[in-house]
Amino acid sequence: MKSGSMKKYINMAYYFIKPFLSRKVQLFLRRRYAILKRCLNKNKWPIDYQAAKKPGNWQGWPDNKQFAFIVTHDVEKLKGYQKVKKLAELDLKYNVKSCFNFVPMLYSVEHDMLNYLKESGFEIGVHGYNHDGKLFSSINIFNSRYPVINKYLNDWGSVGFYSPSTLRNMDWLHQIKMEYDSSTFDTDPFEPQPDGVKTIFPFIVKYEKDNSKSYVEIPYTLAQDHTMFNILKEKSIDIWKMKVDWIAENGGMVHVRTHPDYINFSDNYVSCEYSVNLYMELLEYIQSKYRDMYWNVLPKQLSSFWKTNYND
Ligand SMILES: [Zn+2]
Repeated sequence: MKSGSMKKYINMAYYFIKPFLSRKVQLFLRRRYAILKRCLNKNKWPIDYQAAKKPGNWQGWPDNKQFAFIVTHDVEKLKGYQKVKKLAELDLKYNVKSCFNFVPMLYSVEHDMLNYLKESGFEIGVHGYNHDGKLFSSINIFNSRYPVINKYLNDWGSVGFYSPSTLRNMDWLHQIKMEYDSSTFDTDPFEPQPDGVKTIFPFIVKYEKDNSKSYVEIPYTLAQDHTMFNILKEKSIDIWKMKVDWIAENGGMVHVRTHPDYINFSDNYVSCEYSVNLYMELLEYIQSKYRDMYWNVLPKQLSSFWKTNYND
């Protein structure tokens, strides 16, 4: 059996039995499986060198900046929701523009929270439907859910969609009334649908049935925090730093996605959480090493820049 199909079958088997396993056993298996995946994918993770290729009509970032810097936060559950303000205050302290993505049908998202974030300069995105992993499992489920997603995009004044667990169907996504999607990555073999889009730049996705319809796709390009610190058990941000340097060198987009659910703001150890110091270290690394050299932009602004300049 080819290693590609072996990986696919192991992946399918894991996600088939996952609902029957406790959270502890799931994490144990994911960690074991991740060691194998890391080994099998050492030539394309954390860096897939093919992903550096610039778009054909490349004219660079605004103001001749060397690279773009995007920060997005997926709020998984109520636990993460309760830490949103802490994380927002931290981003404000570092003068970082970021986007918070909420799940519409899992916990209640208060108007006060949305107003606070918007007034403070943050963007709001929609993170799936209820985060049960089934949104793209059948066309019937997708058709019954996307009108609700569209309603929340409208209600929250959002233009960006973020699929839970990066499960996706790029074609069906055209039904979602958004300007951009961010449910992909340049390379991330640890995700359930592990095919990377092999680029560190945004790109346009046209609808095959109607070429006048399109959205901008904004892949994330740094390993997810949960993968780094909970699954791979990394103790430092060396992988992030190495990738930032490589992206900066190639003039692409550094896009980090974090989850407040897993961020620990206290000094006490909590299982499945990592210290906020690691996130702060990333911000400090970029701000000190690349001062004035990057474009920190909200994804909605990046999306409209891309649509205006690279919509060929
Ligand atoms: Zn999520």
